[in-house]
Amino acid sequence: MVARTFFIGGNFKMNGSVESIKAIVDGLNAANLDGVNEVVIAPPALYLLDVVRNAKAPVQVAAQNSYSEASGAYTGEIAPQQLHDAGVPWVILGHSERRSLFGDSDKVVADKVKAALAAGLKVIACIGETLEERETGVTNQVCQRQLEAIAAVLEDKDWKDIVVAYEPVWAIGTGKVATVQQAQDVHADTRAWLAKRVSPAVAEATRIIYGGSVNGKNCGELGGAVDIDGFLVGGASLKPEFIEICKTHK
Ligand code: PEP
Repeated sequence: MVARTFFIGGNFKMNGSVESIKAIVDGLNAANLDGVNEVVIAPPALYLLDVVRNAKAPVQVAAQNSYSEASGAYTGEIAPQQLHDAGVPWVILGHSERRSLFGDSDKVVADKVKAALAAGLKVIACIGETLEERETGVTNQVCQRQLEAIAAVLEDKDWKDIVVAYEPVWAIGTGKVATVQQAQDVHADTRAWLAKRVSPAVAEATRIIYGGSVNGKNCGELGGAVDIDGFLVGGASLKPEFIEICKTHK
């Protein structure tokens, strides 16, 4: 059995300032994180370079988005090659806010994932169903459709650089966390899908993390589920409790 390193991502979304983000990074640097968990924070693009310079191991850095082209006339976009050049090792792609507000379709997400990997980045690839989809019983279909678009552009070797984030849309920023059973069920089904679609070895090794109203109080219980390999944390990543979440141990 492969041990999957527990993974904590912090997605600051469009929040923070030079000062407040420096305070978060200083707090993490001073927190004596033992390096057992992989910790990756995603500030807004404007602050990435500051965070790359200030964050100390084991804290790593992610962008919240990147484009599917290497350079050119794409005003407002950032190329994955530019992130790599600036020392940013990770990127979050397919976040539900990108999908619902900025038109990132399954195909767009897949193209971005492919380009990011080609540029040498590692990817936190987000999937997840809306409340309506859950209520109509198509949660797995939706998650697997989103993941299939990504799987279709990957080779087996690429999966080592992918973390899958299961983020039910109804749980993001709502305070309505999935129950441990709800999350575990989707994680187990996603892992089973990966075993069939890609390979048992990839299914065993790929981290599947949960996102949606994770906080300092619920992280311990969620992290104890066998197929939950970490978290993608939004709101709570801006608060002191993020340090406690980063210290969650299996
Ligand atoms: C997120 O934005 O990825 C997220 C999970 O947000 P929150 O933790 O605030 O629900």
